[in-house]
Amino acid sequence: MIDKLIIGAGAAGLYASSLLPDAALLEGSGSCGRKLLLTGGGRCNYTHALPVPELIAHYHGSLPFIRKVLYAHTPQDIIERFEALGIEAGNEDGKIFPLQGDARTVLDALSSHAPRIIDGKAAGMRKDGGSFIVTLDDGRTIEAGSILLATGGNAYPHTGSDGSGYHLARMMGHRIAPPHPALSALDIVPSLSAAEGITAEISLKTGKSTVSGSAVITRRGLSGPCAEDFSHLIIGRQPITICFCRTSIQELRRESGASLMKNALPIPPRLAAAILGPLAEKRIANLSASEARRAEELLSAFPCTASPIAASAMSTAGGVETSSIDPSTMESKIVPGLYFAGDIIDVDADCGGYSLTWAFATAWIASHSMQSAEDRRFRRPPG
Ligand SMILES: Cc1cc2nc3c(=O)[nH]c(=O)nc-3n(C[C@H](O)[C@H](O)[C@H](O)COP(=O)(O)OP(=O)(O)OC[C@H]3O[C@@H](n4cnc5c(N)ncnc54)[C@H](O)[C@@H]3O)c2cc1C
Repeated sequence: MIDKLIIGAGAAGLYASSLLPDAALLEGSGSCGRKLLLTGGGRCNYTHALPVPELIAHYHGSLPFIRKVLYAHTPQDIIERFEALGIEAGNEDGKIFPLQGDARTVLDALSSHAPRIIDGKAAGMRKDGGSFIVTLDDGRTIEAGSILLATGGNAYPHTGSDGSGYHLARMMGHRIAPPHPALSALDIVPSLSAAEGITAEISLKTGKSTVSGSAVITRRGLSGPCAEDFSHLIIGRQPITICFCRTSIQELRRESGASLMKNALPIPPRLAAAILGPLAEKRIANLSASEARRAEELLSAFPCTASPIAASAMSTAGGVETSSIDPSTMESKIVPGLYFAGDIIDVDADCGGYSLTWAFATAWIASHSMQSAEDRRFRRPPG
């Protein structure tokens, strides 16, 4: 019988375990923190320096839930927690990385405080009276007083987070908002592959949502921060528009009527050619009124369809519905003693250290609640 069992030794599970010295940590992939090692290109962008009111704008999901979590354990608290673990913060335009070392340094710092690690993959879970019975895929069973489910989403499944946690949550009666790729590159039709390799400042629009920023044109579509932050909005394949620049052809005609269209625009000529086709090769003075209108439309609202490239997704949108989790404790509202942290929850975030902030903040709340619940259980009655 284990009092507190954490399932999943990723970012959230390891952070929680560093705060719960008598917990046990169950990891199914054979080694801890495999995804954590890949973060920030191996350097681990572990939080963001934005104050909480501005930070919140980078999260997608239930706003009251997100607000409660991020105020309970702020980026400053995360920075201080890592300082206590021996890691100083380096600030790069607000993104926080270890001042010295890399993702391995972060993993080692968290793992050195990790309690007992059990090698095994949870395949089933049920509640039996006051305790949980977890069945592993090799048939072993573990009995636990309380459980923190920190099994991640289903992005980068080779790191161990293969979505099996959703199955466990479902077994306990939780509903799962359908998982879909987030923080991923986009497949675009028609592709702009003739402009492959060019970086541009663009805006992507679907319905009423617009995301602006830097993107790289790839053979299949778009990558880079703008595409990644936009990808959670796309389920399957959807029509979108891309704004490359807002240009008045009338003004261009006055300033440089003799130039070819592709050479007069504030974007690289190769990109202009990919967007405008034959129109890019025309002299601006020779464009008819309808050609000028068409060029303006293509540059400011290039119509195409987009779908996330699942294999490139760094995160998952969807997951355990937040309506069934208490954000002040991270405890299930359905099954007392069951807690959640990290990517498994139906909240996702932009690129920039926000996902790990979420993993750490939810893990901090859950670990404190698990500890207080246990303290209450073992407290002697007065007198
Ligand atoms: C390439 C890449 C780069 C990234 N860079 C950043 C970055 O710089 N900054 C940032 O904020 N975010 C970044 N992220 C996102 C970040 O890594 C995740 O948000 C974070 O790891 C989520 O933590 P987690 O603990 O919820 O899940 P994970 O870290 O995925 O951990 C889940 C763990 O649970 C284990 N597990 C799963 N199922 C079971 C089971 N049934 N039984 C036992 N164990 C199980 C898995 O093996 C895994 O170890 C990046 C992601 C990727 C893929």
